[in-house]
Amino acid sequence: MPIQPLLDAATAAANLADIEPPYSPQEARAEANRCLFCYDAPCIKACPTGIDVPTFIRKISTDNLVGAARTILEANVLGASCARVCPTQMLCEGACVMLDLEKQPIEIGRLQRHATDHVAAHGIDVLHAPATKNGRRVAVLGAGPAGLGCAAELARLGYAVTVYDRKPAGGGLNTYGIAYYKMRPEVSLDEVRMIERLGVTFRYGVDVGRDVQAADLERQNDAIFIGVGLGGANRLGIPGEDLPEVVDALAFIEWIHTRPLHEVPVGHRVAVLGCGNTAIDAVTQAKRLGAEEATIVYRRGEREMSAYPFEYELAKTDGATFLFDATPVAVVAKDGHVAGLTLAKTAVRDGRVTVVPGSEWTLPCDLVLKAVGQEKQTGLLQTLFPGLKLDARGRVACDPATMQTNLPKVFVGGDAASGGREVVNAVAEGKKAARGIHAMLAGENIRGPVQPSRLGMPDGATGSGFDHPIRVHELEAALKQG
Ligand SMILES: Cc1cc2nc3c(=O)[nH]c(=O)nc-3n(C[C@H](O)[C@H](O)[C@H](O)COP(=O)(O)OP(=O)(O)OC[C@H]3O[C@@H](n4cnc5c(N)ncnc54)[C@H](O)[C@@H]3O)c2cc1C
Ligand code: SF4
Repeated sequence: MPIQPLLDAATAAANLADIEPPYSPQEARAEANRCLFCYDAPCIKACPTGIDVPTFIRKISTDNLVGAARTILEANVLGASCARVCPTQMLCEGACVMLDLEKQPIEIGRLQRHATDHVAAHGIDVLHAPATKNGRRVAVLGAGPAGLGCAAELARLGYAVTVYDRKPAGGGLNTYGIAYYKMRPEVSLDEVRMIERLGVTFRYGVDVGRDVQAADLERQNDAIFIGVGLGGANRLGIPGEDLPEVVDALAFIEWIHTRPLHEVPVGHRVAVLGCGNTAIDAVTQAKRLGAEEATIVYRRGEREMSAYPFEYELAKTDGATFLFDATPVAVVAKDGHVAGLTLAKTAVRDGRVTVVPGSEWTLPCDLVLKAVGQEKQTGLLQTLFPGLKLDARGRVACDPATMQTNLPKVFVGGDAASGGREVVNAVAEGKKAARGIHAMLAGENIRGPVQPSRLGMPDGATGSGFDHPIRVHELEAALKQG
């Protein structure tokens, strides 16, 4: 049977409502007043964009919300979306000293949302670009977080920037891919409009490589930034994969962002392949859209899954089930539609996953969502820029300090360079690339936000998360070493 929408509008909206509602002014002030305003704040160190967390929290505690938003957005132009989508437990909140005192960490993400929502709701622009441009032009490929981070910083440095994107709107996965209960697309689109007001030109519906050639862009511009992210889901290579109800999890999530919620088709019994954060987002949203059963199928064990623990807990709370040590071997069809998934047990030998012979069984389902990793855009990149160096994993190779590739005019950032991380990393890398471009074209090295770290990182006073992104577990290890 073809899949259908399962819920009425009111139920779908309620199920996919904000998972973390905004603070009231009183709640925000109370939470801000819990902050110790650490002199050597580890939360800054753990933020890849180096936001001066204690300073913005202090401003919230004195009702200076515009000032707080300025502190946030000067460091991270996508501060509003990062407030909602960052895995803060792994970043700033995971580093908060409150944890050492066995108290709840400060809810930095929600406070950040409180300040950035205030300026967005009141139409206050805290970032500005110089009225006179510096006469140099840059083309940015991709309007995702990396492209936006690069474009905003360049505009603030006086460059004429044109961003090209094949989609009808900007924001990349921030607009089309984030779980709906974490962030609405309007928040991301608002950020794009703010960057537009900095003087950046956006050209949508333009597929670079098809509608525009990189060679022309190279001739017309002083530098190019590649922020094209990753491609579609990897293929499974099993019989039945091309049935209509075998869908890329990213495409399913995009339906949720581009259709009324009560018109999004979903199966009664959904199987999600993979166990990373995308798989969790897909299974949770399928459940919230009315699927009676939603099962994650993962070929390794619970310990090996790459999903964050808090995402795993959320999916279990939403009623998703998990089948570990199992792999799909075929999609079962009935009358041209998905009727089930033939699974086999797996075993790990010498680190490799193998199928246990004779262990097959069928999981009845009517929708299969593929969340087994995204392809790299290697073909596109090699056609666009012959000679561009990629690493063995298909990522664009670059100097991590400047994000410059082996082609001097070409810079990169975001998932195309990292192979897939988070929004905050993408926006930080875009900004770093803008500064790399500026250093190349104007000979000026811009630093900061410059914050000290309690860990005394190698270059002392410049040890903010922007200069040395560090994960919480790395912070802990460094602390243990003294
Ligand atoms: C399902 C899913 C959920 C996620 N959830 C989170 C989360 O909760 N929190 C978090 O921090 N991170 C999350 N991430 C990761 C995060 O979204 C990415 O790391 C981030 O968006 C990368 O930014 P980017 O700019 O490099 O790429 P993208 O966001 O992918 O943007 C690339 C842009 O380039 C455009 N483009 C590509 N090729 C061309 C071309 N040839 N011509 C023109 N335009 C082109 C695309 O249309 C797109 O707009 C999630 C990722 C996925 C897949
Ligand atoms: S570590 Fe925690 S308490 Fe200290 S400044 Fe950061 S948020 Fe405040």
